[in-house]
Amino acid sequence: MPAGDARDAHAHAYVSFTQIPMPKIPEEIVKRVLSVARIEDVVSDFVQLRRSGKEYEGLCPFHGDKNLGSFKVAPAKNICTCFSCQESWDPVGFVMKAEGLTFPDAIRWLAKKYGIFIDEEQNRFKPKPSMESPPIFVSRRKPWAFPSKEIG
Ligand SMILES: [Zn+2]
Repeated sequence: MPAGDARDAHAHAYVSFTQIPMPKIPEEIVKRVLSVARIEDVVSDFVQLRRSGKEYEGLCPFHGDKNLGSFKVAPAKNICTCFSCQESWDPVGFVMKAEGLTFPDAIRWLAKKYGIFIDEEQNRFKPKPSMESPPIFVSRRKPWAFPSKEIG
């Protein structure tokens, strides 16, 4: 094999590696989002659901569904399943597919929906609150006009 081919193969491997999502979202936030996200809640943002016993059914948003019955939402398992697509999704998986998002972006989407704040600024430089910044001018009075008790 010419050396050039080996380099190309390596370049491809490198590109696909960098495409692996690298979430900056703290682990505990991910866990919290996963624990509060309800499948019936998330799916009903996209699909009109109808109660069917302990489950819900609707039209699958992923395969041009025209008949009720193939797409079921199971709150007890916190998943939805399409028997035509032959796939199941948990809340994050459903959001990733429905919105075309990566895993961290789906977590952000769900966090927003459930009002969970993600502090992605925590590792960046934070300017001091303005109250701590010394004002440039304390007074418009000339320094020599201060009464002596205010000096120092
Ligand atoms: Zn489907």
